Amino acid sequence: MSIPKRQSTAAVEAAMAPPSALPPLLAEDCHSGIPARHHQQAIESRARLYSNRTVPASTPRSQETPVLPPDVDRETFNLAVDELRKLLGAENVELNDKPLVDGWYMEHPNTHDAFHIVEQEDLVSSATVYPGSVEEVSTIVKWANKYLMPIYPISMGRNIGYGGAAPRLRGSVVVDLGRRMNQVLKIDGESATCMVEPGVSYFKLYEEVQKTGFPLWVDPPDLGGGSVLGNCIDRGVGYTPYGDHWANHCGLELVLPTGEIVRTGMGALPGKDGADNPTWQSFQHNYGPSVDGIFSQSNFGIVTKMGMWLMPATEHQTYMVTFPHDDDFEQIIEIIRPLALQRILGNIPQLRNVIQELAVLATPRSKYWSGSGPMPRETLRALAKKYLPTGDCSWIFYGTVYGPEATRNSQMATIKAAFGRVAGMKFYLPSDLPSTHYIHSRVKICSGTPELRELDWLNWVPNAAHTFFAPITPTRGRDARIVHELVTSLHHKWGFDSFPTWCVAGREMHYIANIVYDRADADAKRRVNGLMHEMIAAAAREGYGEYRTHLLYQDVVARTYGFGGQALLRLSETLKDALDPNGILAPGRAGIWPKRYRGRGFEILEAKDESAPKAKL
Ligand code: FAD
Repeated sequence: MSIPKRQSTAAVEAAMAPPSALPPLLAEDCHSGIPARHHQQAIESRARLYSNRTVPASTPRSQETPVLPPDVDRETFNLAVDELRKLLGAENVELNDKPLVDGWYMEHPNTHDAFHIVEQEDLVSSATVYPGSVEEVSTIVKWANKYLMPIYPISMGRNIGYGGAAPRLRGSVVVDLGRRMNQVLKIDGESATCMVEPGVSYFKLYEEVQKTGFPLWVDPPDLGGGSVLGNCIDRGVGYTPYGDHWANHCGLELVLPTGEIVRTGMGALPGKDGADNPTWQSFQHNYGPSVDGIFSQSNFGIVTKMGMWLMPATEHQTYMVTFPHDDDFEQIIEIIRPLALQRILGNIPQLRNVIQELAVLATPRSKYWSGSGPMPRETLRALAKKYLPTGDCSWIFYGTVYGPEATRNSQMATIKAAFGRVAGMKFYLPSDLPSTHYIHSRVKICSGTPELRELDWLNWVPNAAHTFFAPITPTRGRDARIVHELVTSLHHKWGFDSFPTWCVAGREMHYIANIVYDRADADAKRRVNGLMHEMIAAAAREGYGEYRTHLLYQDVVARTYGFGGQALLRLSETLKDALDPNGILAPGRAGIWPKRYRGRGFEILEAKDESAPKAKL
């Protein structure tokens, strides 16, 4: 088993040959495709990414396939799969025994982590099953209990940067909910709500809302191909005022690890004559304990339906502010805090580093600079001066205000005056910048239209993959400085460019550091792993913890939340053992291992010798 090495010329040519088919369109039989309005953009985006690829589209498997989960022998596995085929139909069960194909964002695999940090064959499933209803999900769960088969649910499997579609426990059976459960079940124009199945992407929800004619917005993350439900369950973020996705969900239907079907919130109270409760998507709570929280970032249930609030469409104005000096960020964040707390900043704005403005131009870094290690600051400065319409700067703030013109004007006046205190700042409206500038993509994202442009920074290195380091800090300059200096110096130590963005929710900020690496470069992957472990530990020592992380770091991140001798993790384990006595559902997700696997070496607690983890996966 080895990480793909740089390929021969013939292999490079094969990899770079134009793909035979066009990127799939969103349709009844392709829930994860691209809407027609984005097709050309997707074609160009894929061509750019593939032109920067030096590895073949797939590599032959070097291990016996399918890879089995722990404690299941091949005979039992085959028997179990035969039974699953009878239960669900042979066409809805697929073995993971073919070459692994990383694909790209719009054609992503459901077999493994396409953005592998360890070897491509390490984070893999044994099989994929496609349920078509909540009853079939329950059937799968009961089947898993019978054979003690670990299963791992995904909605769309586009959790790219956090493990993609891969299960945490190698050889688990992936339950791909999205392929057959992908309907927008309800759009209520009066209460501005919807109800979706797992396979509904932001692209699809947007299209379906447009068809109704209701003036409603969805809240997309930077890319629109993710599942509305999957992103929310993983507590993802978007950038309209509804950007905290979990805070805007309303009502769940789920299957417990025993197979029981449960509805939360008002959905627990049946409506008249067996109809859904009329307030299931309007009021978030049921009578009694509020249980929704334990089903996000956990392995306590499989969510089959979710209500979401939609934002009533409104007038909006996106703007951009540039700041000249690297050191300005502390002052900028001190200015942001009161504006955010008073809700003068209308949305979840982003403060991005200038390197991202360059990377999103989709030009490989090697075209700008041929050195190794992080790009020197003077080079970045020179490039910004030459290629950005805004010229040399260090930080770029993207914000949007909402509401009638008078409201927006008054908010903009306050915002301009506040940022005006930073020497050398410059203020821009979209109309001040060329039509190709990234700001036009932000205008769409921040007004409820899913986008694809953000993919372009993945051209920075060949075969680019990325993972996110995403700690939470107070919205305070001094905290921002501690985290930013720690992240920057460790990126330098491990030889990576640092791509920081702050997403400001109000009292707290998500600091999103993007590590972009060449997935064909074994040494780069080893360094990503070392860097992630070191950043997690260093941030935790300062009191900062990640809001979300890649599968490989879930054990260590869970343990940084260690108050009371790991009291929180113990509570999760108590819940896990009670709800999932056989430990079949997503073992290890969020660092929560069921009794059956605990302490047997499945936890990944360190980057052994600063190289790729050797622990069992
Ligand atoms: P899935 O992969 O389906 O699910 C995520 C995880 O949740 C799964 O691994 C599983 O453990 C669990 N899960 C999923 N469905 C269920 C279920 N039904 N029941 C129980 N558990 C379940 N993310 C953001 O949030 N904001 C961003 O702005 C953002 N920007 C990105 C930019 C780029 C360039 C890239 C490549 C990624 C970005 N991402 C961002 C990360 C990611 O692409 C999105 O979060 C995406 O929505 C997650 O994938 P998904 O929705 O398909 O979820």
